[in-house]
Amino acid sequence: MYKLKKRHLLVMLLFTLWASNSHSAINVFACEPEWASLVQILGGEKVSVSSATTALQDPHHIQARPSLIAKARRADLLVCTGAELEVGWLPLLLRKSGNGRIQTGQAGYFMAADHVTLLEKPKILDRSQGDVHADGNPHVHLDPHRIMLIAEALAKTLSHVDPDNQSHYQNNWNNFKDKWSRAITKWQQQSQSLQGKKIVVNHNSWVYLEDWLKLERVATLEPKPGIAPSSTHLAQVLTQLKQQQADMILYASYQNDKAVRWLAQKTHIPVVALAFTVSHDEDLFQWYEGILNQLLDVK
Ligand SMILES: [Zn+2]
Repeated sequence: MYKLKKRHLLVMLLFTLWASNSHSAINVFACEPEWASLVQILGGEKVSVSSATTALQDPHHIQARPSLIAKARRADLLVCTGAELEVGWLPLLLRKSGNGRIQTGQAGYFMAADHVTLLEKPKILDRSQGDVHADGNPHVHLDPHRIMLIAEALAKTLSHVDPDNQSHYQNNWNNFKDKWSRAITKWQQQSQSLQGKKIVVNHNSWVYLEDWLKLERVATLEPKPGIAPSSTHLAQVLTQLKQQQADMILYASYQNDKAVRWLAQKTHIPVVALAFTVSHDEDLFQWYEGILNQLLDVK
C-alpha cells in the first residue's frame, strides 16, 4: 500500500513537471498573418502565436480593441512589419498593453522592416502626397529574399527572448533556410513567363513582388497612397491604358474592388484578386504558391 502511494506520487510529480514544461511556450503577438506563420515555422511547439489581423483585413487600419490589448499584455515577443505600416494603431496598442517586454527597443520588439532595405523611400517627405511612409514601402513580405533575411533575424530574436530553447530555434532556422531557398529557385523557374508583364495596381501593395518577378507597373488607381481614386483620375488612367494596354489589374482581396471592376469593364483587362497574406489554413509556402499560380493562370 505504502509502495503504491509512493509510486503514485512520483507519477504525479513527473506529470506536473511535464505539464509545466509543456506550458512554457513563449507568447508571441504578431501584427500580420505572414509573421505569425514565420514565427510558427521557426518556433514550432515552443511558441504560442496569434495574429492581430487576418488576410481579410487592411493592416494599415484596424482598431486597438480590448481583446487585442489583452493579448499584447501577455506577449513575450511582438513581431510586426514596422516601417509605419501599423503607425495608425500599434503605438496606442503598445501603450495600453502596459507590457514593458514588447516596447520599442526591448528584446521582445521585432520589426521585420528593420532587417531589410526598403524600396520607394521618399527623397522628400511630403505628407500632402497621401499616406506616405517615411521609411519606404513597408510591404516587404512579398519578396522571398527579404523573407529569408527577416527569418534569420527572427530566429536570433526568438533565441534571445527564450535562451533555453536556442538550439531548437537554430535547427528550425536551418531547416527553413534549405526549404525556402529550394522554393525560391522553383518559383523563379515557374514564373519566368511573368517577366515584363504590364500590371495596373490599386494601391502600391506589390512593389516587392514587381521587383522580384520583374513585373512592370504601368498605372496605379490610387492617385496618392491611401487616397481613393476620383473619377477624373480614373478617366486619366483609362485614356492611358487605351494607348498602352496592360496584361492584368492586381488588387489585394481585402480592398474595395469598385474602381478595379469599373476599369476592367471598360478595358477588358483581366482582374486578379490576390490574397495579400497567409490565410488561416495555410503557411507562408502555400500562400506564395497560391499567388504565383493565380498570376500564371492569367491568359
Ligand atoms: Zn501600403
